[in-house]
Amino acid sequence: MKKVLASMSGIIFAVFGVAVLGLLMTLTYSALQRLFPDSFSNQMWGLVMFDIAAMCWAIAFVFKSETVGQYAAAGIGFAAGFIGTLGMVAAEVILSSGTATNTLQIAQWMTYGFIIVTVIHAALIYYHHAAAPDIHEKINVGVARGEIVTEAIKQATSTLEIEKAELAQNIHNDIVSQVKRDLNLYPVAGTPFEKKESAVPFLSRLAEKVGLKKQDDGPQVNSQMVWTVDANGNRHRIICMICQVEGKAWMTPDVCDHIANAKGESGGIEAVSQILKQGLPENAEG
Ligand SMILES: [Zn+2]
Repeated sequence: MKKVLASMSGIIFAVFGVAVLGLLMTLTYSALQRLFPDSFSNQMWGLVMFDIAAMCWAIAFVFKSETVGQYAAAGIGFAAGFIGTLGMVAAEVILSSGTATNTLQIAQWMTYGFIIVTVIHAALIYYHHAAAPDIHEKINVGVARGEIVTEAIKQATSTLEIEKAELAQNIHNDIVSQVKRDLNLYPVAGTPFEKKESAVPFLSRLAEKVGLKKQDDGPQVNSQMVWTVDANGNRHRIICMICQVEGKAWMTPDVCDHIANAKGESGGIEAVSQILKQGLPENAEG
């Protein structure tokens, strides 16, 4: 007997539940017919937004939520659907009973309620998906990456702001020295061009031409000429100012008598470029 009662009560309770849901849906549907008298599809969508939404959010809360955000979204969605349904039912009951004093106002509130509930569900659907663990992680990592990039740009900007004057000075020097060089004027000390553009590459090319590598002993230098000595002890001219004054070839690797008999000191490319910087333009013009 107990068993019979237990299963009976189960059936009765289920039937009762279906009846209550049916009542809610019927009354909501009647209310929706007042809202959309000419549109069957809108009446159906209305049911989705109220009765069915409440059921779906309840299912989402139990089975489809993994993060706190998802539980919150499902809970709010259920509340919106359920309260909206009760509101529609209440409006329908009041309107159909004829006890309402201001039917226009109730109709207005039904319209507002429909819009508000629709907006809430739409927003929550997106939020519920965004709060899913993997998507939540992607969004957070993406935001963090964005913040890092923003911070990097900010730091770079402030660094450039600080070094602006110095960097501008470099460019200014480059431009000025470029112009002076184009006009065959004396190079400006401390500017990038004279090292980059004149003596060092020039010497390197010459040294290469006569078979010397950069790591070999530096060129030999005295006040009038520069030459290199190869592995066999042979001298190669880089520059001879005496030949230059005499109007002979003075920058070819041939050895003139001056260099063949000269005494000099070993000087690196840097040292030679210092001599060239001071000596070459003046003598070259003369
Ligand atoms: Zn010479």
